[in-house]
Amino acid sequence: MVSQNGRKRIVILGGGFGGSYLAKALTKRSLGLDADVVIIDRHNYFTFFPLLVEAGCGSIEPRHSTVPIREFAPKAELLMAEIASLDTEHQRVHFHLIGDDQCRAIEYDHLVVALGSVTRVMPEDVVSGVREHALFIKHMSDAITIRDRTVEQLELANAIDDPEERRRLLHFVIVGGNVTGIEVVGELEVFVREASALYRNISDDDITFTVYEFNERLLAALPENLSRWATKQLAGRGIEIHTGAGVKEVHADHIVDSDGKVVPCSTVIWTAGIAPSPMLKQMTGLPLNKFGSLQCECDYRAVGSENIWGLGDCASVPGPDGKPMPPLAQIAVRQAPQLAANIAAVMQGRPTKPGGVELQGVLVPLGRHRGVAAIKGIHIHGFFAWAMWRAIYLLKTPRFGRRMRVLADWTLNAFFRKDYTQLGMNHASRREMVRPHKVHDSDEC
Ligand SMILES: Cc1cc2nc3c(=O)[nH]c(=O)nc-3n(C[C@H](O)[C@H](O)[C@H](O)COP(=O)(O)OP(=O)(O)OC[C@H]3O[C@@H](n4cnc5c(N)ncnc54)[C@H](O)[C@@H]3O)c2cc1C
Repeated sequence: MVSQNGRKRIVILGGGFGGSYLAKALTKRSLGLDADVVIIDRHNYFTFFPLLVEAGCGSIEPRHSTVPIREFAPKAELLMAEIASLDTEHQRVHFHLIGDDQCRAIEYDHLVVALGSVTRVMPEDVVSGVREHALFIKHMSDAITIRDRTVEQLELANAIDDPEERRRLLHFVIVGGNVTGIEVVGELEVFVREASALYRNISDDDITFTVYEFNERLLAALPENLSRWATKQLAGRGIEIHTGAGVKEVHADHIVDSDGKVVPCSTVIWTAGIAPSPMLKQMTGLPLNKFGSLQCECDYRAVGSENIWGLGDCASVPGPDGKPMPPLAQIAVRQAPQLAANIAAVMQGRPTKPGGVELQGVLVPLGRHRGVAAIKGIHIHGFFAWAMWRAIYLLKTPRFGRRMRVLADWTLNAFFRKDYTQLGMNHASRREMVRPHKVHDSDEC
């Protein structure tokens, strides 16, 4: 694809939080930019990550945690495609349209790399079995898989006679006790305990949740007093918390912790950090730092480049204090208009301005109408922090229609039981099936 009518073309790799907000900013009439904006993403939606855990734990419908890109940035062009490679010399991106094997190319005048991040998984010789046996929470399909898997474990546990095996099936291990891990354990515990009321053979004592956190305390992103409060809350609900401890082996039916203890369990959710998209390493000609992030100047331009820019989780952009801005949606969203203004400045022959976005705050829901929040030096915990989390993210959910859908889900949850049906995404079920479960004495299947 070459530019039409001599118009300049800005290609955005990744239509996630950063890419979609950037496309919207670049196509605003007030920016005065005469250029085509093209987003390339493997999905035609972006995930509204702050609601993803709730989608996985039954509080909202998974689809309601997504935002359709075409609706969000209607003046940009979207190519739903898997990005294959980059040719910086000829200013070309190669890609495969989803559902088509042919390799195609698109030329750019300016390129923005906004490919996001992936869950960080340790090499096999450090922690083994993670890719094979653990679940992640990074895509909408992960959220559905967690919910399906949980329902399946309840069904299995209810159908068997062996109490030890029942406890193993209902032991959920969360590795990583920072914001995402704590949100997962807080919400999933509520989901499982509420659902268990429907199962005659499952008692509260059969259900265990355990968190492993390598740091000496949970929620390292929050001040110590809030971390202490959250730990007490979770421990008071019977959640086992191991700080200063990790997991070194993950198996289908147990883990081995960093002390060498074998712990029977059936579900491991891995939330121990993120890494920049590995796609960056496959793209020759990009300046990457030792973590694999795109190294950028403070105006978002890739180091040593005239027309390649970085944004969001995959880019290391120095903030006003010289430190890289943190990989968060609230940062990517506010970086986008600054980057749009800089691209417009270059295209209109003006100098760029250094960007810089500061963290506004950290809010973590803990389930059971409790939460913790640190916003601009103010520390809040309890019901008010939880309500604030809901209010803020409801307001931040793009588009009125989506907001109403989320609000309807929350309202209905207050009056009716959550939906405990499976949606058929549980790939893990196949692993469980190959384990020789002896359901009945006469069972030979
Ligand atoms: C469970 C969870 C909860 C979170 N909660 C919060 C929160 O409450 N507040 C907050 O501020 N941040 C939160 N975050 C972090 C936040 O989601 C990220 O910082 C944000 O999404 C970064 O935006 P991005 O555009 O860099 O990446 P993304 O939003 O991940 O977008 C990257 C895009 O690139 C696309 N892509 C990648 N590779 C390819 C390829 N090869 N071909 C085609 N397309 C490709 C992907 O499909 C994706 O759409 C959370 C993250 C998670 C996982």
